[in-house]
Amino acid sequence: QRRFFVGGNWKMNGSKESLEQLMSTLNTASLHEDTEVVCAAPSIYLDFARSSLDPSISVAAQNCYKVAKGAFTGEISPAMIKDCGADWVILGHSERRHVFGENDELIGQKVAHALESDLGIIACIGEKLEEREAGTTEEVVFAQTQVIAENVADWEKVVLAYEPVWAIGTGKTATPEQAQEVHEKLRAWLKANVSEEVSDSLRIIYGGSVTAANCRELASQADVDGFLVGGASLKPEFIDIINARA
Ligand code: 13P
Repeated sequence: QRRFFVGGNWKMNGSKESLEQLMSTLNTASLHEDTEVVCAAPSIYLDFARSSLDPSISVAAQNCYKVAKGAFTGEISPAMIKDCGADWVILGHSERRHVFGENDELIGQKVAHALESDLGIIACIGEKLEEREAGTTEEVVFAQTQVIAENVADWEKVVLAYEPVWAIGTGKTATPEQAQEVHEKLRAWLKANVSEEVSDSLRIIYGGSVTAANCRELASQADVDGFLVGGASLKPEFIDIINARA
């Protein structure tokens, strides 16, 4: 009953020329109707992405700030994202956490403000390699989810993305069993700490080296409701990933 959700996170890649080509490929492809598709463009290209993509494909920003406006040089607000016709924002991505030093408190504030501004959020969590090796994966992802949960009033506009840091951009995909194990535990955590309804309805998507070659097996796992795709979202194989359950 959970609609399959596939996000493409372009990160800081592409040019108007290369993205135009990618978007026209997506616009003319046959995409499974039951899949919700969202492309996360660099903020400077949000307008461009919205005007170039077919209306059936949503646009996301890759980050935003925690307040509506003010003297915050270089930041963008949820209202600006909406003004460009985008409906979603990625928050808490591992690159924001680990390259730019965003902590749980800031991510929580961003979650609250983006939702108040009526944006949908793709909230990202995931453990680092040393945390997995130390056996603390659950502890880490539960703590990250807790901070998100404290800032969510309406779960209908939330997608939770489990992205193990060791799998991002490394070519080391989590096995379908590893992904399913964490997703299942997250769903149990949601049932215990939020509600059974949210646990049943929230899309939990997987990210980290998803490709056309590994997406079908991952998509067949009971608690994997879609993907957040980096590198492969810039290539025509993104279409195969969108259609992983078709
Ligand atoms: P890759 O698919 O390039 O590993 O990136 C995953 C990711 O970070 C998506 O947000």
